[in-house]
Amino acid sequence: MEGSGADVVVVGGGVAGLSVARELARRGTRTTLVERARLGAEASWAAAGMLAPQVEADARDDFFNFACSSRDAYPAFADALREETGVDIELDCTGTLRLAFTEDDEREHARRFEWQRGAGLLVEQLDAAETRALEPALSARVRGALRFPREWQVENRRLCDALARACRLAGVRVLEETEARSLNVRGGRFVSVETSRGTFGAGAVVVACGAWSSLLTIETDAAPPSPLAPVLDANVEHSPRIEPVRGQILCYAMRENEPLVRHVVYGAGGYVVPRRDGRLLAGTTTERAGFDKSVTEEGRRAIRLCAEGIAPASADLKITGEWAGLRPRAEDDLPVLGASAGIENLFYATGHYRNGILLAPLTGALVAEMVMSGATPAPLAPFSPARFIAARRAESEGSCFTPKLHRKNF
Ligand SMILES: Cc1cc2nc3c(=O)[nH]c(=O)nc-3n(C[C@H](O)[C@H](O)[C@H](O)COP(=O)(O)OP(=O)(O)OC[C@H]3O[C@@H](n4cnc5c(N)ncnc54)[C@H](O)[C@@H]3O)c2cc1C
Repeated sequence: MEGSGADVVVVGGGVAGLSVARELARRGTRTTLVERARLGAEASWAAAGMLAPQVEADARDDFFNFACSSRDAYPAFADALREETGVDIELDCTGTLRLAFTEDDEREHARRFEWQRGAGLLVEQLDAAETRALEPALSARVRGALRFPREWQVENRRLCDALARACRLAGVRVLEETEARSLNVRGGRFVSVETSRGTFGAGAVVVACGAWSSLLTIETDAAPPSPLAPVLDANVEHSPRIEPVRGQILCYAMRENEPLVRHVVYGAGGYVVPRRDGRLLAGTTTERAGFDKSVTEEGRRAIRLCAEGIAPASADLKITGEWAGLRPRAEDDLPVLGASAGIENLFYATGHYRNGILLAPLTGALVAEMVMSGATPAPLAPFSPARFIAARRAESEGSCFTPKLHRKNF
């Protein structure tokens, strides 16, 4: 058996796997990271880098609290990465605007403003004149905005670069162009990963394969589970089920030294994100298109319309790039973080859906802590893979279990 010296193998080199591998190595764990292509080249590369839990939130819940804590960890995270690697991840703290174009939007904003302010969160309500004074390029149709001073953005590609460097500097053995094919389980415990470069034994494995997390098979010596007592992960098609949700982005070149907007701006059905290097990202779509990463004419049109609705002068800017990425979505829209309910020493760091960049600092720190201690840190409890057992049981008993959709799609 090759590579049996690792304490932990992390499978998947996106922002989730990189964050976990860095934290494991920093805490002294011998860590191998297996990436089937290049590090940080999938959803983590395609993302818009917004760190914005408040902008769409209508109530405080476990996810909201977790997301806010991760956002609040970003300044220290960015400093640490700069110290470790010299890479500036371009954390931009200008803030985020959410525009109102209709009376309905205004009513929604008033409700959101009230509950968030009542909850002690930072949020400002602006009228049309105040909004346009802040961002003169915004549409004349804007009736007002909510401003979220603590809703930030980061250059996610630099983040992946910084994390990859930090991993290597901390001693992570990084294997790119290495595909994990299956996890071997003996006596109910993970023992090794089968890869395109051989078999790697390790004390534990962390599955962080993003939208592909459910394609990793589990080879087990256990008898098939009884249909009356299904155990999560105990079948070859391992649970939890993660599906790809495509998002497309258009990239404009802003005029030199003339940013069209300085804030991240949410409009009707999308957003624009100005980057320090003069790019303006506009997004996005939310599509079930399997593993197809095409940019479509329909997607382009919808994104252009939305960007022009926010800032009409974007129509005059040159489009210099376009791409799509696959968000990893679990059946209840929440991340899947923690120990498998059925297999010892198997952990998940996946299902981050629309928030994987935002959740990177806490995913890395808390999943690493859990792998090393065996205990579930309290903030991870709501995201345990065990929560799907009820759904699987209901399915096998023939009843129709529909998990509650947690957040609305945008
Ligand atoms: C258009 C778009 C906009 C977004 N905007 C934001 C945003 O503003 N803010 C935010 O927080 N989030 C955003 N997201 C979501 C965010 O990008 C994802 O939640 C996050 O990148 C998921 O990270 P990941 O590491 O789980 O997945 P990925 O980055 O997809 O990484 C998974 C990795 O696993 C590898 N892999 C898969 N299978 C195997 C295997 N068998 N063996 C080895 N390696 C394997 C893949 O090659 C890949 O590198 C956006 C996503 C999209 C698509």
